Amino acid sequence: MAEVKQLPTRKQVSPELTWDLTPIYHDQKAFEQAFEAVSSQIDQLPALQGELKNGPKSLLKVIEGILSAIRPAEKLYVYASLKHDQDTSNAINQALSGRTQMLMTRLGSNIAWFEPELLAIDRQTLEDWLKNAPELKPYVHYLRTITDERDHVLTPAAEKLLAQAGDALNASSDTFSVLNDADLEFPAVEDNDGNSVQLSQGIYDQLIQSTKPEVRQMAFKQLYAVYHQFRHTFASTLMGNVKTHNFLAKAHHYSDARQAAMGVNHIPVSVFDALVTSVNEHLPLLHRYVALRKQILKLPELHMYDLYTPITGEPKLSYSFEQAKEEALKALAVLGPDYLDHVKEAFNSRWIDVVENKGKRSGAYSSGMYDTSPYILLNWQDNLESLFTLVHEMGHSMHSYYTTHNQPYQYGDYSIFVAEIASTTNETLLTDYLLKTYPDKQVQAYVLNHYLDGFKGTVFRQTQFAEFEHFVHEQDGAGHPLTADFLSQHYLQLNQKYYGDAVISDPEIADEWSRIPHFYYNYYVYQYATGFAAANTLASRILSGDENKRAAYLNYLKSGSSDYPIQVMQKAGVDMTKTDYLDQAFAQFEKRLDQFEKLAKSMG
Ligand SMILES: [Zn+2]
Repeated sequence: MAEVKQLPTRKQVSPELTWDLTPIYHDQKAFEQAFEAVSSQIDQLPALQGELKNGPKSLLKVIEGILSAIRPAEKLYVYASLKHDQDTSNAINQALSGRTQMLMTRLGSNIAWFEPELLAIDRQTLEDWLKNAPELKPYVHYLRTITDERDHVLTPAAEKLLAQAGDALNASSDTFSVLNDADLEFPAVEDNDGNSVQLSQGIYDQLIQSTKPEVRQMAFKQLYAVYHQFRHTFASTLMGNVKTHNFLAKAHHYSDARQAAMGVNHIPVSVFDALVTSVNEHLPLLHRYVALRKQILKLPELHMYDLYTPITGEPKLSYSFEQAKEEALKALAVLGPDYLDHVKEAFNSRWIDVVENKGKRSGAYSSGMYDTSPYILLNWQDNLESLFTLVHEMGHSMHSYYTTHNQPYQYGDYSIFVAEIASTTNETLLTDYLLKTYPDKQVQAYVLNHYLDGFKGTVFRQTQFAEFEHFVHEQDGAGHPLTADFLSQHYLQLNQKYYGDAVISDPEIADEWSRIPHFYYNYYVYQYATGFAAANTLASRILSGDENKRAAYLNYLKSGSSDYPIQVMQKAGVDMTKTDYLDQAFAQFEKRLDQFEKLAKSMG
């Protein structure tokens, strides 16, 4: 048996590998003082009610009053959640996190009157203020994000009624989670070593990547047998959820659920349509990649359960964290000296919590707020995958850094639609750097396939999900009952269209829709695909060496939420309402697929 590695406790980790949170609050006492001050500030907020209509000066006073409470509250919240994540078993930190969550809830309910009261101001009067009152200038876009949705906001009484129905309207989605995460029981299957293991979602993710075909086949068949048994219940929870989206969209005077979901960020539906059209045109590239998989794996038949097993061995590249920092700096050098200076600042000022310890939250993220550094949580391993994670999270942190240093507080964050673009651009730059730097065939094959797999999982697969999601909302809108058979039949067709003839469309895959939590997110997944493709195109622009293109990219990082996401990206050089940026991303995919094909042939 392999030796079981013991994780250090939080106290045993050497301080230079932990993040330094003392610049946020020097000690517990400082936190408590801030907490008390914010708490009484929050209590004052309802007193601002009723003043908005008195004119631009009153409006300004209220906005600033509200933001001056949100800002320090957010700081308390971020501090407590970082503390909590560094050791989730620490009872003191658990309490901090619980207290700040309650503080945020109290804050939310103490300012709930603001939007309805703002929208109750006569349309023309408010428009006049926004155009002419100099004191409101810094807040014009901030207020527009509320007033632009005016036609979709109901009377305060109607909004209150809908809010009260919220729990009931979410019941289908909640039932899905309970069934999927808690109640479903899976049988035992064999793992790689021939041991019997109880199947779970987590174990399935491991076994489906097994290098032994019989192991992944069994995991696949057993998992889907369970889902098949509950397909009518899953169809019912999905249908209930779709009906909620369609109902709320109609109630708020949107033409459909898609327009409602995308309208929040002012993303035109043409962005969604451009994605689906372009991906469909380029499906032959996915078919080619899948066929290559079959060839490399030397399988007589390629099944749906063969799509996740690695087709290249692990590269002989291993990095200590110190070496990885050097590599990251070299890979990101194309972003210019200013960008690199801030990356160095992140390394040298302890913004990163590097290694795993007992109780530390798993995975990786970048987090912070306007008045803190953009911290990074990692669970470092000495491999190439961790280097990719490091530059990814650094992309988020630099985005936050540039935004908070170039925008006022009210525009000091950014939406999900643009967030993953900054991180994925960095990964793409690392891919380019590795391919240029390491001629070793094993490394080249690994890096190329890492890219191709990422593209497959993000651009192709998420668009497949987006297409399905849109189909079910439209069908329900047209009065078609979403039965399990109807859903499975359509899903199977869609799956065949995406993966093509090289893969056997196993009947089990028809039920895949039943286990995808993202179908409950309300038009969320398309953003993974658009973000990945935009990042590809932006990375190519940066690598062209054109100063202006690089400056346009940095300008996007500096924009925060000072404008709507589509406009921010347009200024960076990518028009996401058109298909050009997608065509460019597919051209890159094709080029790397060519390279990988050639390499695979030469390696036998
Ligand atoms: Zn990310």
